[in-house]
Amino acid sequence: MIIPVQPNIQCENCIKCGNRPHVEQHKKYWVLTCPNKSCKNFVKALTIDFATWNRLNKKANEIPATTETLKRTA
Ligand SMILES: [Zn+2]
Repeated sequence: MIIPVQPNIQCENCIKCGNRPHVEQHKKYWVLTCPNKSCKNFVKALTIDFATWNRLNKKANEIPATTETLKRTA
């Protein structure tokens, strides 16, 4: 099952190809993944883990002042 990420959700594009990720459900796991399978770019967790995806796909020169907040909520 493939679920698109709603446009109002703050979500980085794939750092490799620039596509917006989508969500797949695999048994009890939720996988936030690039639609381009060759990227092998995904975050698998028991919830849809936007925080981890955004951290992994944030370009190095775009790290904002909110890093502190992400650490606290992670
Ligand atoms: Zn990609």
